[in-house]
Amino acid sequence: MSTMIDPFGRDITYLRVSVTDRCDFRCVYCMAEDMTFLPKAEVLSLEELDRLCSAFVRKGVRKLRLTGGEPLVRRNVMQLIRSLGRHLDAGTLDELTLTTNGSQLSRFADELVDAGVRRINVSVDTLNAERFRRLTRWGRLEQVLDGLQAAKRAGLAVKINAVALKNENEDEFDALVEWCGGEGFDLCLIETMPLGEIDGDRTTQYLPLSLVRARLARRWTLQDTDYRTGGPARYMSVKETGQRIGFITPLTHNFCESCNRVRVTCTGTLYMCLGQDDAADLRTPIRATADDSLLDTAIDEAIGRKPKGHDFVIDRRANRPSVSRHMSMTGG
Ligand code: SAM
Ligand code: SF4
Repeated sequence: MSTMIDPFGRDITYLRVSVTDRCDFRCVYCMAEDMTFLPKAEVLSLEELDRLCSAFVRKGVRKLRLTGGEPLVRRNVMQLIRSLGRHLDAGTLDELTLTTNGSQLSRFADELVDAGVRRINVSVDTLNAERFRRLTRWGRLEQVLDGLQAAKRAGLAVKINAVALKNENEDEFDALVEWCGGEGFDLCLIETMPLGEIDGDRTTQYLPLSLVRARLARRWTLQDTDYRTGGPARYMSVKETGQRIGFITPLTHNFCESCNRVRVTCTGTLYMCLGQDDAADLRTPIRATADDSLLDTAIDEAIGRKPKGHDFVIDRRANRPSVSRHMSMTGG
């Protein structure tokens, strides 16, 4: 049982931690091309990240997701992942997982399995190499596909995340469902969220998933399931492929009532809600003393003011992010 119960009775059992704000891609919906990254001194060290995650595990977090930026480009990140694996061995953590762009998987897949990781989320918005290059600005599809094969060989279960983008990949969802079916991957479609300044216009990117689902239903038999991963996705199964498809719809469907998670940035800022600005600084208490007493108090206070929900809007009049930080800061 978690000792972190928020004011609305929700049990906090899921922590997402951004281990770096840096990335080897510059996806158009996520970052501006000329991002400035944080100075090293502001970013938690691997040891500090370990202390922070371990404090949450001690308080009842059962699922830990590392994200970023790109978690696998952080130097020596495997050291952290291996170390966190001890909580799996001890039975105090059910799952250690990560969200990655897949560019480094060829190198790390075996080590991840060795450290106790069993499932990963890999972001692939398109299977068209040229389009992939345009959407990620710096990425190479082939490198990611090689990484996915390495993940499969290593025995990792893979879920593909794809952001639904109007006029960009909206003609590809049938192909993505088919490809995932053939590879044995689950698929999760995500609506764009208004997080952070980017170079483009978000109202031209926004594509409601209700529409995508209706289009998919013309070709595939989508069946309701009660499968949940502890995340915000609603899952259906695709009868023809036997794989699942999830829909994350922060804008068209409010999933806050069952929210069991909080997020920490790589600077140790705890966000109790992805869509709200209220936050708690955990870096100061971590750095103030070698024991975790101040850290524990800061976490408890923050959970005590987790808000009821968020209020995202993308419309033409308010064409600015409702939350100014980028997704690469808070992590996906
Ligand atoms: N670099 C890793 C990756 O791309 O998977 C992990 C971090 S990334 C910020 C996590 C997820 O957030 C990715 O699936 C990405 O597509 C998604 N994402 C980024 N910006 C987004 C936005 N504005 N709206 C919706 N999803 C977004
Ligand atoms: Fe990097 Fe992931 Fe953001 Fe793309 S979505 S720029 S891969 S952090």
